[in-house]
Amino acid sequence: MADRSSLPPPAVDAARRRWLQGLGAAALAAGGTVAAAPDARARTTKTNAHIVIAGSGLGGIAVANRLARQLDGAKITIVDAKQEHNYQPGYTLVATGVWPIEKIRDRNADYLPAGAEWVQEMVAEFDPDANAVVTTGGRRIGYDYLVVATGLHLDYAQIEGMDVAAIGTNGLGSVYASPQAAQATWRAMDAFRRQGGHAVMTLPAGPLKCAGAPLKMTFMVADRLRQAGTLGKSQVDFFTGLPTDTVFGVKVVNDAVLKRWDAIGVERHHLQKLVAVDIGARKATFASPEGEKTEVGYDFLHVVPPMRATDAVKHSKLAWQEGPMAPGGWLEVDKVTLRHPRYPNVFGIGDINGTPRGKTAATVKKSAPIVVHNLVEVIAGREPDDEFDGYTSCPLIVREGSAMLIEFDYEGRLTPSLPMIEPLQESYMAWLMKYSMLKPAYVAVLKGRV
Ligand SMILES: Cc1cc2nc3c(=O)[nH]c(=O)nc-3n(C[C@H](O)[C@H](O)[C@H](O)COP(=O)(O)OP(=O)(O)OC[C@H]3O[C@@H](n4cnc5c(N)ncnc54)[C@H](O)[C@@H]3O)c2cc1C
Repeated sequence: MADRSSLPPPAVDAARRRWLQGLGAAALAAGGTVAAAPDARARTTKTNAHIVIAGSGLGGIAVANRLARQLDGAKITIVDAKQEHNYQPGYTLVATGVWPIEKIRDRNADYLPAGAEWVQEMVAEFDPDANAVVTTGGRRIGYDYLVVATGLHLDYAQIEGMDVAAIGTNGLGSVYASPQAAQATWRAMDAFRRQGGHAVMTLPAGPLKCAGAPLKMTFMVADRLRQAGTLGKSQVDFFTGLPTDTVFGVKVVNDAVLKRWDAIGVERHHLQKLVAVDIGARKATFASPEGEKTEVGYDFLHVVPPMRATDAVKHSKLAWQEGPMAPGGWLEVDKVTLRHPRYPNVFGIGDINGTPRGKTAATVKKSAPIVVHNLVEVIAGREPDDEFDGYTSCPLIVREGSAMLIEFDYEGRLTPSLPMIEPLQESYMAWLMKYSMLKPAYVAVLKGRV
């Protein structure tokens, strides 16, 4: 691991820390739950229903904790083989040398509600016609209600020659794969910034979790080069499958990013999809929509894989059967109630949802209370009446010590929730939120407290 001593945490004096703690409380409130504090509206509903939750990431655990509090007598079963809990929003901080890896590794067992059953296997098959899931070990588990929270699948296999185990070697980086991959990405970036050279950053078209992460990595590689005094003899190129002048789905945010990249000399190459990498020779191959291929040499490559639904959902009747979400196999849900339109005892939460935007922890924060409220209404024999507006947010790091806090809804409208932070304007405050406040907020979401 590289020497991180040159990268001190932001210094905060005691008075400022107290003020920031106040802001931390505001951060927890961000996302609209101020008006509808879940505990205020929570009531205990008596039921002997069996609820199965597939997936114990942020969405699955947040829903489990809320259901455990709001239901009296229900049986809750969580199905997921994963033991470790990872704070994924911290991956970009680890991959750029800001945080040590320990800050993003935790244990699922510490967050699951007491009394819930944890089946430590994966769901191999969803059988919604029979109200059952089948585990990888062959166990068939029936349910009255199902919450699908399996996250998504990182489809590195679509990139010929890509080897996740090689991240960190030969200038190869990829923040998404795991905490270890994030740490190894910093190893590669750190070695690269000392010499300088050609950085090739990538972004596929299609739904992504934290679509801001590839942009943050690009800002940060340029900043690390600048700090090392090697930016002047380096070139940072950004290759994306998206059309001309598009790197982010919300236009005003997109334009703010492009303006900054033009100023620091990041060059863009659009409609270019990463299709192959020769790790040993440090060559990446991109294809245009017409199939024309271009080979590009690099000193540092940041790979962002295409993303799709997990296999078990993709190959089930729960997936969208038609429309733009069908090819990726995303879970079909009503985008407002987050209830499955064809299987009314099924709800979805988090990255797996085939909704127009989202795929962030901030989306889970805002939507978990809504999913739980609507599910409890259905259990009680009523119609779901809480509505999700598609809220998501992204602290877009622009350099060490500065970020823009972007919040928006399904329509791409900016929805700033903290009066002291101006969206689109970079600030130390937004950086500090990312650096020190959002993890406690995440843990509060996990525990179902906000
Ligand atoms: C690099 C990176 C940066 C990010 N930055 C931010 C950020 O700045 N801000 C932000 O808000 N969000 C950010 N996110 C996104 C955020 O972490 C995710 O949106 C959030 O974790 C989604 O929660 P989830 O529960 O849907 O999925 P996950 O937390 O990924 O959990 C999915 C769970 O489902 C399990 N699972 C998978 N398949 C099955 C199966 N068949 N059966 C049972 N279980 C299964 C998995 O083992 C896993 O435990 C970032 C993510 C990454 C990777």
